[in-house]
Amino acid sequence: MVGIGDKLLGYATNPDVRNRGASGGLVTAVLAAALEKGMVEGVVVLKRIDEYEAIPVITDDVQEVLASGGSMHAVPVNLTKHAVGRKIAMPGKPCDVRGVIEQAKRNGVDLENTYIVGLNCGGSMHPVVTREMLIRMYEIDPEDVVGEEIEKGKLIFKTKDGEEKAISIDELEEAGYGRRENCRYCTIKIPTNADLACGNWGVIGELAGSATFCEVMNEKGKRLLDNAIEAGFIEVQPADEKSIAIRNKVNSAMLKLGDEWKGRLLTEIHDQERLTYYIEQFADCIDCGACREVCPVCTCGEDSKCTMFHSLADNYKMSMYHMVRLLHLSDSCIGCGQCSDICPVDIPVTTIFRRFADPAQKKRDYSPGMDLQRPPFLELMLK
Ligand SMILES: Cc1cc2nc3c(=O)[nH]c(=O)nc-3n(C[C@H](O)[C@H](O)[C@H](O)COP(=O)(O)OP(=O)(O)OC[C@H]3O[C@@H](n4cnc5c(N)ncnc54)[C@H](O)[C@@H]3O)c2cc1C
Repeated sequence: MVGIGDKLLGYATNPDVRNRGASGGLVTAVLAAALEKGMVEGVVVLKRIDEYEAIPVITDDVQEVLASGGSMHAVPVNLTKHAVGRKIAMPGKPCDVRGVIEQAKRNGVDLENTYIVGLNCGGSMHPVVTREMLIRMYEIDPEDVVGEEIEKGKLIFKTKDGEEKAISIDELEEAGYGRRENCRYCTIKIPTNADLACGNWGVIGELAGSATFCEVMNEKGKRLLDNAIEAGFIEVQPADEKSIAIRNKVNSAMLKLGDEWKGRLLTEIHDQERLTYYIEQFADCIDCGACREVCPVCTCGEDSKCTMFHSLADNYKMSMYHMVRLLHLSDSCIGCGQCSDICPVDIPVTTIFRRFADPAQKKRDYSPGMDLQRPPFLELMLK
């Protein structure tokens, strides 16, 4: 039996699952065991199409779960909406977990019935930008890529002729490639808001690449792991002090880097310049509403306040759409980047929203369970 707060190293007992997994297949095996033993009715898996595209699906087939696995860094999908109204287990980057918690606040998700196996996340990449980066920076045909991984700050691509090419992520980002903008200034890298927090940071020595570092965050996380161990799907051992120290060190370095990017991209806009800033930023908006459709947090539907103020014939009212959304999401924008990714005219919607939301959310506490508390922004308004 594991305990809440345990820090473990583990892997799937099935050799195929272990090999296919990003680092030992523990996540896949835990999800599959939850389904096998009836803890949940379905599991969210990513159905891989190629290196740059995958579709999230919900399955009740244990074999399908076991056949999934692997980390897709160029698939910046958000999984939140797959949790709505279901009794499921899912993997989740920190922004997926935040999305599920926001949905729970809106009664879209019952957290007691939703098991989230959190994935550490240093960031994901836009698939179109990744393809361009491969051609320009790596001089590799994107169709020749058969795998990618991140090691010691370098992004490595493997090609079908067995070659590997590595470039440092700093160099890629200075050239405008690498992680998506919102991932650079994201400062939740270990999903302590999930039921389990899993990643490869801290996995060293002979287990490097074939085991996952897993922290048990709460009672549900304990249930997930105990179930998977009992079902014979995984094996775990305590992480030693060195592993724990390395994980902490890398996380601290990544958070520092995130703060540096915040300093560069989320600078304060002075009062006098604010209106001009928003008018200019949204000037190219073609009023398609895709940013609202894709938002994992939005739940207003037909009654949404942002579209009530909206008329195609009136440009001023069109900008009201964004103004209402900015206010509405100020306490709950999760910074996942979906709105920027989808915008057909390349407005950096997420960064515009984060500039507004970041000060409102600054004092939030992301330690386990605290994300469900009323945000300080509302406290201030209710005073
Ligand atoms: C975009 C991304 C960035 C990551 N960055 C780091 C990092 O910086 N440091 C670190 O320690 N760990 C990071 N991880 C986690 C790490 O790569 C492994 O997922 C983790 O160690 C678990 O390994 P595993 O073999 O047990 O997982 P597996 O058994 O391979 O299971 C991985 C699970 O992740 C899901 N998944 C794959 N791609 C995505 C995606 N794009 N979005 C949502 N779910 C996805 C799969 O469907 C599967 O359920 C990252 C993962 C992703 C997806």
